[in-house]
Amino acid sequence: MLNDSKASEENREPAGPIYEKVPVLNRFLAAAKPSAIYRVMDRVAARRASGAAVISLSAGEPDFDTPRHVCEAGIAAIRAGHTRYTQIAGMRALREAIAGKFQRENRLDVDWRDTLVCSGGKQVIFNALAATLNEDDEVIVPAPYWVSYPEIVQLCGAKTVYVPCGAQSGFKLTAEALDAAITPRTRWLILNSPSNPTGAVYSRVELQQLAQVLLAHPQVLVLSDDIYEHLIFDQLEFFTLAQVEPRLRERVLTMNGVSKAYAMTGWRIGFCTGPRWLIDAMEKLQGQQTSGASTISQHAALAALSGPQDFIEHSRKVFQRRRDLVVDQLNQAPGLRCEAPQGAFYAFASCEDLIGTTTRGGSFLKDDEAVANALLDETGVATVHGSAFGLGPYIRIAYALDDVSLRRACAAIQHFCHTLAR
Ligand code: GLU
Repeated sequence: MLNDSKASEENREPAGPIYEKVPVLNRFLAAAKPSAIYRVMDRVAARRASGAAVISLSAGEPDFDTPRHVCEAGIAAIRAGHTRYTQIAGMRALREAIAGKFQRENRLDVDWRDTLVCSGGKQVIFNALAATLNEDDEVIVPAPYWVSYPEIVQLCGAKTVYVPCGAQSGFKLTAEALDAAITPRTRWLILNSPSNPTGAVYSRVELQQLAQVLLAHPQVLVLSDDIYEHLIFDQLEFFTLAQVEPRLRERVLTMNGVSKAYAMTGWRIGFCTGPRWLIDAMEKLQGQQTSGASTISQHAALAALSGPQDFIEHSRKVFQRRRDLVVDQLNQAPGLRCEAPQGAFYAFASCEDLIGTTTRGGSFLKDDEAVANALLDETGVATVHGSAFGLGPYIRIAYALDDVSLRRACAAIQHFCHTLAR
């Protein structure tokens, strides 16, 4: 017996090949899609590695360097030995600065204990949804949407209820559409203003109208993703739901981060404020997950939030100028149509009139993904197809790039459109 079992031990295949053959993935993960944005970014990296020149309008991240005083704060933190864990929810000094930010910029009276620091905005969303969703719960996501919202809902085993919000409603959710989408199973609504991918911005009145509907449905929580708050153009004023309707405060999670406002995408710091029970639940989850955000990044984020704020206005002006440039140029490309977005750093251009044409390289453009692929393959300009964001046929152009590269990219797109054959 002993020998037999030894023999069977020896015959056992090593763990690697067995795991490759057996479907061991969690079923929610197995059904989730990888980020379409990162897929394009990977293709850009591969093309560059093979020596090809690419202008990437794919990833949404500011091209500026992180402000110097913020970097210095990170370096000083390392030098001072701030290289150990912080509290799970974040350093108290940073949480106080976050509470101060919500007070100063959003007129939300926030206790620092009602804030949470996470490793990027994505972790805020993941924590919030994973802490609250059960199977069969529904999350309302206005479409087009940032690609990761439905996938995070999927990872939590819940169901996304998409509400189409096309160009005719300015890509925004209306009160009527929200009302029609809510069911007894609705647990969350995700709002994102300024929006990725469209740049749409909700006015105070539009938020008030949504709030009226939400007040009638006390089971619905709201995630207000305000990450592009400071990138808002044409003298528009930014409003967030909890500010506009204080009666919703007890069920709104207001989230933000330093990534877009201070060009700190790689530092991975997101934060939020919401009802204490939700913050506590998210902290509990985070305590078994990452233990908290990087200490060094937290020191840098503290410097960003409490130091000089002129960087924000400077970059806002630059992005507004680039928006004007890109929208003007895109509208000169035959077959593309693009409204001027009011915020963020994305242009969402309709490519409907390109569908059904053939490129000089012989690619038939059957949909917006084919358009984005052919643009990359034949002109070296990387964009992300709109259908990845839940609305086609569009392409998303992230104009977080210097003017010279933007002009070159737009000229290449125009040339591409001019040379299509019907
Ligand atoms: N949020 C950015 C974008 O939409 C960065 C990529 C990501 O995290 O999805 O491009």
